[in-house]
Amino acid sequence: MEQIIFNMSLVVLIGASGTSRSEFARRYFQEEEILSADALFDPASNDQSVNKAVIEALYDQAEQRLKQGNLTVIDAANLQKEERQRWVKLAKKYHMIPHAIAFHFSDSLEEEGFSSVYRFQSAEEIDQVAIVRKPLWVDQRTETGPFDIIGDVHGCFPELVTLLAKLGYHIKETDYSGQKSFEVTHPEQRKLVFVGDLVDRGPNTPDVLRLVMGMVQAGNAYCVRGNHDGKLWKKLVGHHVQINHGLEVTMEQFAKESTEWIEEVRHFLEKLPSHYLFDDGKLVVAHAGLKEEMQGRDSKKVRTFAMFGETTGRLDRFGLPERVPWARNYRGRALVVHGHTPQKEPLWMNNSVNIDTGCVFGGKLTALRYPEKVTLSVEAEKKYASYLYWEKEKSNRE
Ligand code: MN
Repeated sequence: MEQIIFNMSLVVLIGASGTSRSEFARRYFQEEEILSADALFDPASNDQSVNKAVIEALYDQAEQRLKQGNLTVIDAANLQKEERQRWVKLAKKYHMIPHAIAFHFSDSLEEEGFSSVYRFQSAEEIDQVAIVRKPLWVDQRTETGPFDIIGDVHGCFPELVTLLAKLGYHIKETDYSGQKSFEVTHPEQRKLVFVGDLVDRGPNTPDVLRLVMGMVQAGNAYCVRGNHDGKLWKKLVGHHVQINHGLEVTMEQFAKESTEWIEEVRHFLEKLPSHYLFDDGKLVVAHAGLKEEMQGRDSKKVRTFAMFGETTGRLDRFGLPERVPWARNYRGRALVVHGHTPQKEPLWMNNSVNIDTGCVFGGKLTALRYPEKVTLSVEAEKKYASYLYWEKEKSNRE
């Protein structure tokens, strides 16, 4: 039996002393990954303050490792509920995944915030298990491109086709047994990366999805999740969502599609990651951008930031959530390519670039070539929806 532990994790070993806890740690983890309380405890001492100091030292060491994104294993006997929760909290602070592995331990751990709980009640069970270490799905550092990264498409299929042709892609429409699909290839094996928001507002969301889904499946494209993609997924699984901001257009287009195909869409949207880390960590693609300390990590906060960016919790003068321009303070090594907030031109700021040039609002659809770092755009064929900010700007000028 295989148990999966992700690289970006804090593994908390739980059990009394005398269990095979420490032996297990040494078998599956590197020496430098294991922070052992036993190694620090003075067995001759019954002084509680000494024990407390040991736990604090362990905590400081763990914090340094988690901050760096290093897998860390806590090996301490008899961790009480409060201590366990402190570890969970520390892991979450650094967007690391808290795993629990319990030895001969029957109390419930399921409500304590661990993302997985593995239990071993006997030596045989320990012998039968294999701990498998895996990188997170967002970690595609070995994928080096070259890429063409595409901004928010929002159902603008005609413009997407024109842009891909301009980038040198060959598009072939196929129709196997009534199932329309697109085969897209590049003579130099370039790959596409979509910043998300494939759907809503535009004239042909179904064909945009067909093209991107086909390419992702064929392994020549990547796509991260935009807020509109996330909301459509919620709608398709039956959550209550407001049918507005262009979702009404998508649902009207979906009414002409088969339930099987919509099911495929649901599955595709569900699997979209918050962001991707490419090219040895030199490139990050996230819908609304991503702070350095969140890159390559996965947590609820990371997913929310990647989809929506940072907001102040206040509303702006148009009644929309006020956004924090995170890129203004960005000092990371990775180039962060994102969309989400439409701009008249691609917007470079520090080591980030916003390539959402508002095609669906009558702007342009933009691609960033990587590693070349040059942008290429095509004009929108028409204005499919109104963008409040641009409209206001215009009426202020007029
Ligand atoms: Mn968008």
